[in-house]
Amino acid sequence: MAVLSRLLRASALTASCSLYAATVRRRGLSLVASEGDLRLPSSAHLSPLGTRKDLTGRNVQWAFLGCPGVGKGTYASRLSQLLGVPHIATGDLVREELSSSGPLADQLRGIVNQGKLVSDEIIVDLLSKRVEKGEAKGESGFILDGFPRTLRQAEILERVTDVDLVINLKLREDVLLEKCLGRRICSQCGGNFNIACIDIKGEDGKPGIYMAPLLPPEGCASKLVTRSDDTEEVVKERLRIYNEMVRSVALSAAGGIPESWPKLLHALHLDGLNREQSLAA
Ligand SMILES: [Zn+2]
Repeated sequence: MAVLSRLLRASALTASCSLYAATVRRRGLSLVASEGDLRLPSSAHLSPLGTRKDLTGRNVQWAFLGCPGVGKGTYASRLSQLLGVPHIATGDLVREELSSSGPLADQLRGIVNQGKLVSDEIIVDLLSKRVEKGEAKGESGFILDGFPRTLRQAEILERVTDVDLVINLKLREDVLLEKCLGRRICSQCGGNFNIACIDIKGEDGKPGIYMAPLLPPEGCASKLVTRSDDTEEVVKERLRIYNEMVRSVALSAAGGIPESWPKLLHALHLDGLNREQSLAA
């Protein structure tokens, strides 16, 4: 089962689009994916969507990938309710641990307050504990949110379980920042909302982006708070680290020109261009 690390390699190439975007834009092509671009891996073993259980009778085991702020939590949470499987967000696991006391909580506080990402070891540890606790309560299946974030995490995950489907959500970086800064939580019921209204006009043949705010019901409106790590400085640092890390995964996953070149072109939506050039040559 190497689907996940293969996809992470592919998504690493996708995420490095920004490196090439400037060159390609001059040719009048739009290649950077905007929101709503759900890329389903052709290599994933898809059970029919909407089917809760596979042939062995277990529930779906899916994972959401994507930058911080891309909306993974919202989609994962809705699917989890729809399919009756637990939604396991590594961010929530970290926050739960933070609200407890002890040496791990202290260590985490230091990392999170600086906008740094928590290490693979800590994340894997928290996740294993959560899954074990769930299984003891009779839970089956999961929708992971924010994990795996690195190729290494994907490899660790593959050793312990199967993931049937990986969904990679993408969004432009300026929009990501605005969405992160618009996040609000109801201090009473814990509901997640977003007050940012994204409305970017399309230009140079590129489609515009419109994302309505996710406003709270009346009862929550006066109780909204902002997470302490959702400041512009911290969010920018999270995105910088995320991009840096994903790019370094792309480099380490390079499988030589014969394997990597077609993958790169595919990730950049340039398959057609390569064929045209080969014909012209
Ligand atoms: Zn509320």
